Amino acid sequence: MNKDLSNLREKLQALLLAQRDKSARGNVADYIPALAEVDPNLMGAAIATIDGDFVGVGDYQHAFSIQSISKVFGLVMAMNRVGDALWQRVNMEPSGQPFNSIIQLEWEKGIPRNPVINAGAILISDVLVSHYSASKLAFISFLRTIANDEDIHIDHDVFQSELAHGNRNAALAYLMKSFNNIEAEVPDVLEHYFTQCSVTMNCQQLAQSLLFLANKGVNPLNNTAVCTRKEAHRVNAILSTSGMYDQSGEFAFSVGLPAKSGVGGGIVAIVPNFGVICAWSPPLNSFGNSVVGMNFIAGLAEELGLSIY
Ligand code: GLU
Repeated sequence: MNKDLSNLREKLQALLLAQRDKSARGNVADYIPALAEVDPNLMGAAIATIDGDFVGVGDYQHAFSIQSISKVFGLVMAMNRVGDALWQRVNMEPSGQPFNSIIQLEWEKGIPRNPVINAGAILISDVLVSHYSASKLAFISFLRTIANDEDIHIDHDVFQSELAHGNRNAALAYLMKSFNNIEAEVPDVLEHYFTQCSVTMNCQQLAQSLLFLANKGVNPLNNTAVCTRKEAHRVNAILSTSGMYDQSGEFAFSVGLPAKSGVGGGIVAIVPNFGVICAWSPPLNSFGNSVVGMNFIAGLAEELGLSIY
């Protein structure tokens, strides 16, 4: 893909600088106390390309809570483990509901709309708990391998906070269990889910770890297949329609890239056949997406002509 990459660092710096005052327009996630303590003024961004180029600006090496971005990694692991059978248990449609909504799940008999809303990610956690003898360890090892970086860890304060305030997620899990769509014990499934949400990574690690989704399933850093081409296609399709919470339509409309966001303020955007952008700033808009992260990625996509549509 031909992009004008001259002065990429300057472009990234200018875009991030232009956001300096914008973070005040959002609110840091406070549904768990541990997230509310993050400095709202931190902001960073990074871009990694499948050709091996990397540029990071601002606080791009500051680790933050990846939260729902973890749903992408869990999905890839589950697809690798159970193949097409996964799609008997979870759908691939946008939900049109908040990420932790419970209403639709009852109507639809315990089958989550997609793997990147909470119900779907809890179901994926069940797949991992049921298919790995040590799923949390397997999850962290997977991240370290694909990011090519051992320095990726779980934030135990965030984990404890998630656990202490996890009643709605527990309700989703028990509802699915009542429809026989959860195999393992619910507390074990939730422990895995909260663990993966509590992983901390920085913009560089996130951008590099997801390069395989921009490169037809192959990690260009070491030329190893992380998933099949078909699976990479499917993950990107789901991220295009559902990755940005209930603002996914607007993100497709204005940016045009598969992306996933988390309430820790991180957003990753996949540019097929080119690379991955990660932007991070904790204050969120009313949909749960980082205000600065959205603006930054929209600006870069516009400037470099990155839309896939
Ligand atoms: N751990 C969060 C929850 O389950 C994930 C929130 C998010 O990033 O969407 O509520």
